[in-house]
Amino acid sequence: MADQPAHKDKIGFARRDTTHSVDVAVVGTGPTGLAAALALAGLGLETVCTGPTPKPSATNPDTRTAALLSGSIEFLDSIGTGKSCCAAAAPLEAIRIIDDTGRLIRAPDTEFRASELGLEAFGYNVPNSALVSALYRQFDNQPRARHIATEAVTAITPQPKCVRLETAEGEEIEALLVVGADGRKSPTRTAANVETVNWTYEQTALACNFTHTLDHRNVSTEFHRPSGPFTTVPLPDRDSSLVWVETPAEAQRLMRLDDEEFARAIESRLHGLLGDVVAVGSRAAFPLTGLTAKTFARRRIALVGEAAHVLPPIGAQGLNLGFRDIVQLTDCVAEAQRTGSDIGGGGVMQAYSFGRRGDVWSRSAAVDLLNRSLLSGFLPVQAARTIGLHLLNAVAPLRRFVMRQGLAPSMPKTPPGHMQDAASAPSKHE
Ligand SMILES: Cc1cc2nc3c(=O)[nH]c(=O)nc-3n(C[C@H](O)[C@H](O)[C@H](O)COP(=O)(O)OP(=O)(O)OC[C@H]3O[C@@H](n4cnc5c(N)ncnc54)[C@H](O)[C@@H]3O)c2cc1C
Repeated sequence: MADQPAHKDKIGFARRDTTHSVDVAVVGTGPTGLAAALALAGLGLETVCTGPTPKPSATNPDTRTAALLSGSIEFLDSIGTGKSCCAAAAPLEAIRIIDDTGRLIRAPDTEFRASELGLEAFGYNVPNSALVSALYRQFDNQPRARHIATEAVTAITPQPKCVRLETAEGEEIEALLVVGADGRKSPTRTAANVETVNWTYEQTALACNFTHTLDHRNVSTEFHRPSGPFTTVPLPDRDSSLVWVETPAEAQRLMRLDDEEFARAIESRLHGLLGDVVAVGSRAAFPLTGLTAKTFARRRIALVGEAAHVLPPIGAQGLNLGFRDIVQLTDCVAEAQRTGSDIGGGGVMQAYSFGRRGDVWSRSAAVDLLNRSLLSGFLPVQAARTIGLHLLNAVAPLRRFVMRQGLAPSMPKTPPGHMQDAASAPSKHE
């Protein structure tokens, strides 16, 4: 690399012949990275997505599924992947909450039906592996999006007019805007000098898929237990995914059980709801943590997905929030294009960061509150939870309001007046 000839590119930097000069570089090839690249390429921007080639792993399979709500499905449709994702998914027609705390003050069983809002389904439960494959395949249909395969991006250097990236294999990329979709340890977040608020829970989530003898009728069931929720989410046929939140010690014990013992443990927690458990898939354990970035964009780097926020897997919020990040970022960038300002400039950074704050903080707080209200042995907290669920059961308009809040906001819009960026540099495509 060192003896290659250097010349000036359109942004005015000396660069080598192997340097890719693009509008947008996305770091990370998880669901948010791939989706962000497709969405931004859809604006006509030359976009590269850098990271390992997504492929199923035999030794470390992704056992997660994501319950994607209707706004996320609309977004996936808009980037051309909705249909292929939903082929491997099951619709979520209802969500049921069952109080299994065994406490003195017990909440009533509560069911939310999508039909009450005039919808066929709240969304779809999609295996992560199917989602990532569908997004990756869509690169073949999007000429402006390109994957640069690398073990890792090893250097990220924000400059006044672009960000420079270097991969482990020595490729160099310079981009007007970098999207950090590189997960919870995000090197791009570090490069942007963004601080985080972190917290932990004395809980671990176990995730796996299983097969059962009774029909789930496309209903997701959440058993509220004193150690955390135990949630089944429908998959096609008589399969369901499971997220089982436990104390770390109990989670370790459950991980050590053989499949037969683990199947019996699931049956016992389900109280016969789905009949016999006849097969269980591989299990994975996720210690529960939370993280929120103090700002979501700086120095030409915008953070999306778990690089920006990590939520415990309770209430199906994480990836839905990640897709809303991308919708908001795409809106901000489209507005910059419309007004002829810099797509990585201060205006976009401020508008995006400002636009995400409320949604991210309110969802993080809601998930935290729900989780802590289950763990709390404090009677007034238990009573408040029970009264809340009684009200939701009895008052249909309140139930509909809460359901709409659960689905909203589907499509963020850029706040007006945030795109004026006096110091903006012109886009390379102007
Ligand atoms: C048990 C469980 C159940 C869940 N259920 C739901 C649900 O029902 N609904 C929901 O909305 N959410 C759910 N979530 C959350 C959801 O899974 C995450 O929000 C989502 O997977 C995060 O995707 P991401 O693309 O942001 O990050 P990741 O999937 O972590 O992807 C990060 C990518 O960045 C790459 N990377 C890292 N460092 C570098 C580097 N230096 N250079 C290049 N690439 C790099 C990695 O290789 C990876 O490809 C659940 C989570 C768990 C744990």
